[in-house]
Amino acid sequence: MIFYNSDACQNLSDYGIDVPIHWEREKKVFAEVYNEFPDAFTWLSDDQVVPLEKKDLLKAHTEDYVNKLYSKDKLFDEMATCFELFDKDGKATRFIKENQKKSFEDLFLRLRKQCRISFMAMQKALSHGFSYHLGGGMHHAMSFSGRGFCLLNDVVIGIRKLQDVEAIKTAWVIDVDAHKGDGTSELCKGDPSIQTLSIHMAEGWPLDTEKLDADGQLNPSFIPSDVDIPINKLEEHLYLDKLEEGMLTLLQKTGRPDLVVVVQGADPFEKDELESASLLKMTAKQMLDRDKLVYNFLAEKNIPQTYVMAGGYGQKTWHIYTEFLRYALSRR
Ligand SMILES: [Zn+2]
Repeated sequence: MIFYNSDACQNLSDYGIDVPIHWEREKKVFAEVYNEFPDAFTWLSDDQVVPLEKKDLLKAHTEDYVNKLYSKDKLFDEMATCFELFDKDGKATRFIKENQKKSFEDLFLRLRKQCRISFMAMQKALSHGFSYHLGGGMHHAMSFSGRGFCLLNDVVIGIRKLQDVEAIKTAWVIDVDAHKGDGTSELCKGDPSIQTLSIHMAEGWPLDTEKLDADGQLNPSFIPSDVDIPINKLEEHLYLDKLEEGMLTLLQKTGRPDLVVVVQGADPFEKDELESASLLKMTAKQMLDRDKLVYNFLAEKNIPQTYVMAGGYGQKTWHIYTEFLRYALSRR
């Protein structure tokens, strides 16, 4: 079952934010896959999607951070940090004020709606075995701040909401985005009920800073996932074996979880256009093999699996999601 709300596909440039995220990608995936599998879709109109509330956000984020997001004065600064709008000297790098047609309050509302849909998809996976949210995957959002274009960690919020109503006890997050799922690992540190696996570029953002800051504190991006699989440049051929080994390690450690959320970033694809994702260059075939490996590993064990899209930049990445959905839906 695929959850899709066309109104969630907002163009960030309408908020004055200059980031190469193609909000058209969800529309393209929808248009392609709907033709072949119309019954697989749950199309949501905007008023059917109730934004998550403050108490939900607190399941992952600190009170201090959440209060700032709800404060008209402080929201701007939090968005500026999250979307890297200014450099150290305060010069606008990704913010074009003249382009701003919609408010940051509106963007905050949209993102809370995205969190709701990720949660709905997780719920559906429990009864259907497989579900997909055409959106979501904000895996860099940490307990105390947004970063890396991710304001709220929809993955951890959704899992904890399901745990609170006792729909599940345990979950894994399998994060195959090119960038380390550092927000998710920070949020799940010390929480054995959520196991995290991240396979990512060994170098580059967000691991391109000093591990320790001036006070000797660990940079939160280096907080380990339960299984971290760094892939070096030119090691794409080792990717599939390492990923399978990582999933087997988790299975040995915890047994079968009640739910797996796959953060299916398409930015390891060689035709992704985000500069900071360029250290991994997988072919379309390698990407589909990656997604088949995860899907079949979980399906064979009857583990409910749900997907969020995460990073995938530029004109070509929609193709990666489309090919995977064709594969998965033809097997159900
Ligand atoms: Zn990414």
